[in-house]
Amino acid sequence: MNVAIIGTGYVGLVTGACLAESGNSVVCIDNDAAKVASLREGQLPFHEPLLDDLVAAARQRGKLWFTDQLEQGTRAADIIFLALGTPSGADGYAQVAPLLQCAQDLAATLRHKCLVVVKSTVPPGTCATIQALFDMQLAQGNAAYRVSVASNPEFLSEGSAVADFRNPARIVVGAANDHAAGTLRQLYAPFDPGGKLVMEMDVRSAEFAKYACNAMLAARISLINELANIAGRIGADIAPICRVLRSDPRIGSQYLQPGAGYGGSCLPKDLRALIRMAQDEDEPAAILRSVEQVNQRQIELLYDAIARHFWGRLKGRRIAVWGLAFKPGTDDIREAPSVALIQSLLEAGARVRAYDPLAESAVGSLIPHANLALVDSARQACENADALVVMTEWEEFRAPDFGWLAATLGTPAVFDARDLYQSRELHSFGLRHYRPGQKRLA
Ligand code: NAD
Repeated sequence: MNVAIIGTGYVGLVTGACLAESGNSVVCIDNDAAKVASLREGQLPFHEPLLDDLVAAARQRGKLWFTDQLEQGTRAADIIFLALGTPSGADGYAQVAPLLQCAQDLAATLRHKCLVVVKSTVPPGTCATIQALFDMQLAQGNAAYRVSVASNPEFLSEGSAVADFRNPARIVVGAANDHAAGTLRQLYAPFDPGGKLVMEMDVRSAEFAKYACNAMLAARISLINELANIAGRIGADIAPICRVLRSDPRIGSQYLQPGAGYGGSCLPKDLRALIRMAQDEDEPAAILRSVEQVNQRQIELLYDAIARHFWGRLKGRRIAVWGLAFKPGTDDIREAPSVALIQSLLEAGARVRAYDPLAESAVGSLIPHANLALVDSARQACENADALVVMTEWEEFRAPDFGWLAATLGTPAVFDARDLYQSRELHSFGLRHYRPGQKRLA
């Protein structure tokens, strides 16, 4: 099929590359001309494992193109995906105005039979609004064919996006008619060899399914963090408790790792949008509000433990930070807990030396500060530092040289926000250890 994808970000580019790999002809469209120019030169705008090779192979086979011209890019498409960002506005609502404007521009030019599919995470009712834009063109006699609008939310995770797209757990299709659903089933057939992964439903439910999933995931993270905090207070160890929880098939084994709280470009903004949606319907959303509160508190607890270690005097203290990305495998720092922590440390007068294998350049432009140095290695971050904070569970941070750390850090303390290390091992090197849920260093 001829596929056009509007919005060539994490979702759009991965979708485009994977659909090109499965034999479709794909045009990725973005209104950022500089991004399109670098993509044409083979430069990807972000890091994602496997994506470089996939894009290069698809382009070599003549299956993938890039353009910043909407009309040109969509002219021959059988299916047009909308994969624009839907970030939070200041009021917490998902900002869909750019997406609707794009759909309006599309409706003004589209004159052939095709299917428009919304892949962005959008509040229920957005697809209906977009459908109305196309229907208006038909009613005004500007279009000869009715364009159907379907919902197909994306569930990939950054860091494993290509693998997730190639091997989906499910493919959600919200369609108002059989033709739209059948077209999407056909497109996804190579990713669904057993024919059991496509879940068809009405458009509104498909739109909401994405919010429901992210709410569940965020709730699990906040719940395990809250349990870790309670365990810490009563002198229980959350690590073996997590093993107990994971072994229970009713509970499941994922998203049960205490840490610095959830971040990234999806969970925080989707939770906010969901709470706003509930509020508009006079639904209290009591659990969702608590999930947010617990998440915000998690980074405050970490900051408080660091401040307490230095008797409340962080001014002039040198703190090494390992990990900036909101999770390993990506260079995405959108709403990363590390950013909030570093900002608080800098505000308190600390000097921060930070290292991340991928995400440094993004942080440098986000927090330009004389007291923030971005360095090239984990070791460099610790040189002359008073303490170390580990914010992202990158593989290279899992087994550091504790002896070297103990000899290097001015006050030998490791704030292990991802619960990577064993206190007993750190103590044997003379290092103090802070884990999520603890009030102070052990
Ligand atoms: P992104 O910010 O990485 O990419 C969006 C792209 O759209 C950018 O390249 C931007 O330049 C482009 N764009 C904006 N306006 C445009 C226009 N008018 N015409 C053409 N291009 C335009 O966003 P993302 O992370 O890929 O997320 C896209 C959507 O998918 C969001 O709704 C998000 O919530 C959802 N989602 C994201 C993920 C994820 O892990 N990133 C996972 C699932 C769902």
